Amino acid sequence: MFATLSDRLSDTFKNLRGKGRLSEADIDATAREIRIALLEADVALPVVKEFTAAIKERARGEEVSQALNPAQQIVKIVNEELIEILGGETRRLRFAKTGPTVIMLAGLQGAGKTTLAAKLALWLKEQGKSPLLVACDLQRPNAVNQLQVNGERVGVPVFAPEPGNGTGNPVAVAQASIEEATRKLYDVVIVDTAGRLGVDAEMMQQAKDIRAAVNPDEVLFVVDAMIGQDAVNTALAFQEGVGFDGVVLTKLDGDARGGAALSIRSITGKPVMFASAGEKMTDFDLFHPDRMAGRILD
Ligand code: GDP
Repeated sequence: MFATLSDRLSDTFKNLRGKGRLSEADIDATAREIRIALLEADVALPVVKEFTAAIKERARGEEVSQALNPAQQIVKIVNEELIEILGGETRRLRFAKTGPTVIMLAGLQGAGKTTLAAKLALWLKEQGKSPLLVACDLQRPNAVNQLQVNGERVGVPVFAPEPGNGTGNPVAVAQASIEEATRKLYDVVIVDTAGRLGVDAEMMQQAKDIRAAVNPDEVLFVVDAMIGQDAVNTALAFQEGVGFDGVVLTKLDGDARGGAALSIRSITGKPVMFASAGEKMTDFDLFHPDRMAGRILD
């Protein structure tokens, strides 16, 4: 994960080793190298600019520590700034005070929503919650079936329209699922919605209608991290079309660069809440900005 960026940054820091004090030229050169490393990682340009400006400003001697040499100080500053652009604090799920907590998933087809829905359900189950998965992706012929298969894998029931494939009204299904959850005392409802291959007005409208009907506690935008900066553009389209509270990055295991993870928070203002990094149902966790920064700088 993010191997190229890690290597690049580590080379940059190596060049500073043994230096007694950083000159203006050292700081400029370091900032330039960091800029190149971030651009190669496919980080969005405004984020790169903001990041390097912050590094430069802080490196210009405002923080002179007795305990750290200049190279260590730069590593410390980069670490703190990485944590910052990754979102700072870990953002945890907000649960409803009364009645079932409703989590709605939105994103493009192939983003990994259906897989993610089951992973999230398992994760919640392991924390003692009793989740209900809801199949509102009635566009893709196999989506309901796929959610049912995944639900079975994690031992979580799936609420789906009868007979299950391609028919029905997703808004009605979503509404009925909340009634079912309330009646049967499920405490979290995870609504999987339809995606398309590209941003599409009809898809957005449907997601918006579902959102209005079920009034979710959390809308999570699910996006494939491997698409890099395109993830940011897609996020902006969903932000405008549906609105969301947090981001789930999927396929981080296949993301060698890290552009989506490092850009999305700054550009959308919404935190990355979860990371999915593999095809196994347990390859899923909260997104911890500090741990992620630590891995990049490892
Ligand atoms: P949806 O169309 O958004 O519902 O996407 P799916 O859940 O069907 O996922 C699309 C493909 O991505 C499937 O082949 C999944 O197995 C795969 N996938 C989902 N999440 C991950 C992940 O975190 N890592 C990897 N390597 N593959 C994933």
